[in-house]
Amino acid sequence: MRKTIAILLLSLLTMTAQAQTDWFRLLRGTLKVGQALTLSDAELANIVKESVDAMDRSNNVCNESNSYTKRLRRVTKGMVDADGIELNFKVYRTTEINAFACPDGSVRVFSALMDLLSDDELLGVIGHEIGHVALRHSKRAWREELLRGAASDAIGAFSDTWANLSDSFLGNVAGAAISAKHSRRHENEADEYGYEFLKKCGKNPWAIGLAFKKMKELEENSSSKYTKLLQPFSSHPDFDERIENIREKAEKDGYSCM
Ligand SMILES: [Zn+2]
Repeated sequence: MRKTIAILLLSLLTMTAQAQTDWFRLLRGTLKVGQALTLSDAELANIVKESVDAMDRSNNVCNESNSYTKRLRRVTKGMVDADGIELNFKVYRTTEINAFACPDGSVRVFSALMDLLSDDELLGVIGHEIGHVALRHSKRAWREELLRGAASDAIGAFSDTWANLSDSFLGNVAGAAISAKHSRRHENEADEYGYEFLKKCGKNPWAIGLAFKKMKELEENSSSKYTKLLQPFSSHPDFDERIENIREKAEKDGYSCM
C-alpha cells in the first residue's frame, strides 16, 4: 500500500495541472465510493426518512377526511408493523397507477390504483409491497441506489458525508429505489408474502392474482384514461407466470379462482 501511494505521488509530480485536477477528482470519487460502502443502517434510515418526507411534500397527499384516505385506513386497519418495522400509510392523488413501500415502513398508494382495485385486491398489492419491506428487499434496493448514486457522482455534488445530501440527489435515489426492478426471486417471495398476508386476513388469496391481472389488462389497453402504469407494476415477461403461480397455489389451497 505504502509503495502504491509513493508511486501515485511520484506520478502526480510529473503531471500537468489539468491532469492533477482530474487525478484529485478521481481520488475524491474513489474515497466517496469507499465511504458509501460503510453506509450504516442509521444513516440509511435517515436518508430514507428525508426522502419520504420530500416525496410527501411534492405529491398531492390526500388528507384524513378524504374518501381515499378513509378507504385506505379501513382496508389496512390493524396493520401496525412488517416484521418489526412500523408501518404508515398515505394516499397520493394521481392518475398514475402505483403503490410502493420504503424500508422505513412508509407505504404510499396512488389513488388511481385504488380506483382500479377492489378492497381485497388492494390489500393483496399492499401485502406484496409490505413483503418487500419485511423481507428487506426494499432496504437492499435503497442501499444499492445510494451506492450507485455516490459512485456515479464522483465529480459532482455528492457531499463528503452522508449528511446534507442535495434534494436532487435524494430525489434521484428515491426514484430509482422505488422503481427498481427486484429480482425474480424477490418478486416471487413478495407475491408469496402477499398471498399469505391475504389468507391471514381471512381473504381469498387469489385477490392478489386478480389485482395483477387487472393491472396487466390496463397496461395493454392503450385507450385507458390512466396515463401510465409505473414500475414495478408495468408488466414484464414473467408477469403471466406469476399470475399463474398464484392461481395454481390458490386452487391447491381450495380457493375459488374466478
Ligand atoms: Zn414487487
